Amino acid sequence: MILILKPDTTKSSADYKRLMEYLANLPNIQIRIHEEQGVQQTLTEIYLIGDTAPLNLNDMDGLPGVERAVRVSEAYRILGRHKVDVRATHFDYNGVRFGQDTLNVFAGLCAVDTPEHVELMMKALRDNGQVCTRMGAYKPRSNPYSFQGHGKNCLPYVFELAGKYGIKVIAMEVTHESHVEEIREALKQTGHPTGVMLQIGTRNTQNFELLKIVGRQKEFPVLLKRGFGITLEESLNAAEYLASEGNRNVVFGLRGMKTNVGDPHRNFVDFSHVPVVKRLTRMPVCIDPSHSVGSRDSAPDGILDIVTVTAQGVVAGANMVLVDFHPAPHKALVDGPQALTLEELPYFLEDVRIAREAYEKRSLLAKRLNT
Ligand code: PEP
Ligand code: MN
Repeated sequence: MILILKPDTTKSSADYKRLMEYLANLPNIQIRIHEEQGVQQTLTEIYLIGDTAPLNLNDMDGLPGVERAVRVSEAYRILGRHKVDVRATHFDYNGVRFGQDTLNVFAGLCAVDTPEHVELMMKALRDNGQVCTRMGAYKPRSNPYSFQGHGKNCLPYVFELAGKYGIKVIAMEVTHESHVEEIREALKQTGHPTGVMLQIGTRNTQNFELLKIVGRQKEFPVLLKRGFGITLEESLNAAEYLASEGNRNVVFGLRGMKTNVGDPHRNFVDFSHVPVVKRLTRMPVCIDPSHSVGSRDSAPDGILDIVTVTAQGVVAGANMVLVDFHPAPHKALVDGPQALTLEELPYFLEDVRIAREAYEKRSLLAKRLNT
């Protein structure tokens, strides 16, 4: 059960103290407190864990300082959607809103290689009205002899160039806790010209110790990729790990499942799960068409499979698109064969716009039927 307190109920208030006294006397119940520091107000939620079945919802609703009590199902206590759930389905980071009703495109380099390529990418994004990108500095590679990413050495120029071209959020994968510290330090040294969304890749979806560490910090939001060989439920539980440690600014990423059933695509595209994740949880949902499809193949109509599956995800209500671009794909050190070119960026964005408009019309149509 969750007790959502009235906004701005402080720990020193009489109501809060009386509430705590009452909760402390409940048998077999542990409490966990979560505070959300908003721009305008502080919101406090108290999680009651344990034997909550005997508790009466109306009684709990009436406790001092409580605005509303919500009974939660066992799964995804924090990120899940529960009955009569009034909690937000969005968060704001560095001036950008991430919600189940917004759409942000993160086009960029799979792996940072040279400052020139980073600058060309950032400039193309600015020229096309984009404020988000993806930039890989730490690359998890199947082969130990493959390029592993420039790591912390590239961070200063990546962040400075992002600032120069008005990029507000960079999705960047981390595979170790030290990477979070390196990103924090480089942002500080460069004067915070941009923001970072920490990405946890599909190989680390169930790296619980990494999840706990990334979940314990609240400075950066997190993009958690779905595990490529586990159930959706297991991946959603991984997201809940982040939230249970304190960070609920989590975007859930679909990136295809590893199976030969999906051949010749690199992974079996799973974007039909966009509405499922939105129904089960309050997380915005990201799709990664590049790592799903893995090639620049196209159909006889001339449309690249990457563009088609992007449209499928967006038509289904996706909230974020993470997609590989490169100014010179043949020179890319990682995943060149699946990268779109800068010349294709305006075309790609227009295709996304068409799909989004279709989604918005579909959603209005459904509302009309249901009212
Ligand atoms: C990536 O986005 O660069 C990446 C490695 O993705 P995934 O973890 O989905 O394979
Ligand atoms: Mn890649």
